[in-house]
Amino acid sequence: MTSGNPEKERLIKNLMDQGYLRTKKVISVFGKIPREEFVMESDRAFAYADYPLSILSGQTISAPHMVAIMTELLEPETKDKVLEIGAGSGYQAAILSKLVKKIYSIEVDPELVSFARSNLSKASVKNVEVIMGDGSKGYEKAKPYDKILVTCATPEIFDSWISQLKMNGILLAPVGGGFYQELMKIRKTKKGLEKKNHGGCAFVPLRT
Ligand code: SAH
Repeated sequence: MTSGNPEKERLIKNLMDQGYLRTKKVISVFGKIPREEFVMESDRAFAYADYPLSILSGQTISAPHMVAIMTELLEPETKDKVLEIGAGSGYQAAILSKLVKKIYSIEVDPELVSFARSNLSKASVKNVEVIMGDGSKGYEKAKPYDKILVTCATPEIFDSWISQLKMNGILLAPVGGGFYQELMKIRKTKKGLEKKNHGGCAFVPLRT
């Protein structure tokens, strides 16, 4: 790691020690993306603390360890086309942008659509398209996807997501309501959906 930022390097080391960051390529990307460009101006000093931070419209940028967990579970490959539900700050998409070919990120809140676009542009990320819309319907236009990543708490796995996912594709989503969800990893196979629970998490709710 040679980011030249001691706080960033400490965070990455902690995420590795705690087992959240596991693969070489994901570790290297955490070093490359400037999280300070994705938080509010007033929170820049906390950009490398391992907790969520408030952004606009009562939403949050996920804690770095949650971004690490989700990025690793998604098994990113360079050929992948990914759909993200909930662009928020754009940080999760920025991390993925260095690991996959193309990301479509849907965001329901107009203020956050602009926030994510501007942050991604400041970080010189070019392969993420932020689209305004309701992600519970997925994004028909660019289907099918190798991976789908839901970054807001969803009451259910919508059929639209499964139908827009490629065979053998992976869908990752915090399923549940209120303040607590289960992080579910679902693989679409010829025999049906393989589901695995990766434990408790707390995301802001999906809004429709
Ligand atoms: N991935 C983000 C964190 C997202 S927070 C990051 O890295 O910063 C969850 C986001 O989901 C919020 O921005 C919220 O506005 C958005 N969201 C909620 N309901 C949605 C919906 N139905 N469609 C698309 N986005 C939605």
